[in-house]
Amino acid sequence: MAATEPTMTPVIETRELWRTYGRGDLAVHALRGVDLVIEPGELVAIMGPSGSGKSTLMNLLGCLDRPSRGELRLLGADVARLSTDELARARNRTLGFVFQSYCLLARTSAVDNVMLPMLYAGVPRRELRPRAIRALQRVGLGARLDHTPAELSGGQQQRVAIARALVNQPHVILADEPTGNLDSTTTVEILALFQELNDEGITIVLVTHEPEVAEHASRVIVVKDGLIASDQRQPSRPARPARELAS
Ligand code: ADP
Repeated sequence: MAATEPTMTPVIETRELWRTYGRGDLAVHALRGVDLVIEPGELVAIMGPSGSGKSTLMNLLGCLDRPSRGELRLLGADVARLSTDELARARNRTLGFVFQSYCLLARTSAVDNVMLPMLYAGVPRRELRPRAIRALQRVGLGARLDHTPAELSGGQQQRVAIARALVNQPHVILADEPTGNLDSTTTVEILALFQELNDEGITIVLVTHEPEVAEHASRVIVVKDGLIASDQRQPSRPARPARELAS
């Protein structure tokens, strides 16, 4: 993957993806052969009832878990063929994660929280702080660099988490219920931020229960019983042209 080449391959591609928990009579087939292609520049909302397999799918797409069967490609690379180190590197450089509960380190400043993924990615030490500051400025938190999570509102904490997700310049942000803990005004602000990032060419996949959140997506996928029950592109919100991203 050359840094100067635009990404023409799908950012994510799954074929016959299965994930079974347990064995024998106790086996739970959380995913039952999911085929999914996500193109660069899409803003995808994944919906579906509780227990339908959304988190399992996100964990697989995020390479936090391995499929029981089937194929998963990340920017064209077959994840099953990567070593543990290669997988960690690909995950670090390709994906950014945002969670419902922010998952920030407590008693740790915003800027130090945002520096963390760069440490794992081996970014030179002198670049850590300036890049973290730029990412925090990007999400509107330039004046809160040294605040700890306890000193920030829920919306501000989620902005720190988004800055942390952005800091390694990912192709894709995977967000699991990112507005689930936020009030409606803050939800709108965080969605606007996701839309700006999508406009800049970052592909976004988010899980949500809220139809208002899904309305902002270019594509809505409904998962039921471990399969994709519907998959609709929203003509009013076409996918953004993918930006050329450094890898
Ligand atoms: P959702 O995110 O849509 O609520 P999940 O992916 O969490 O759904 O769960 C899908 C199914 O897999 C459910 O039946 C759930 O109980 C089961 N499941 C999820 N994680 C595990 C696990 N670690 N062990 C056993 N069963 C699990």
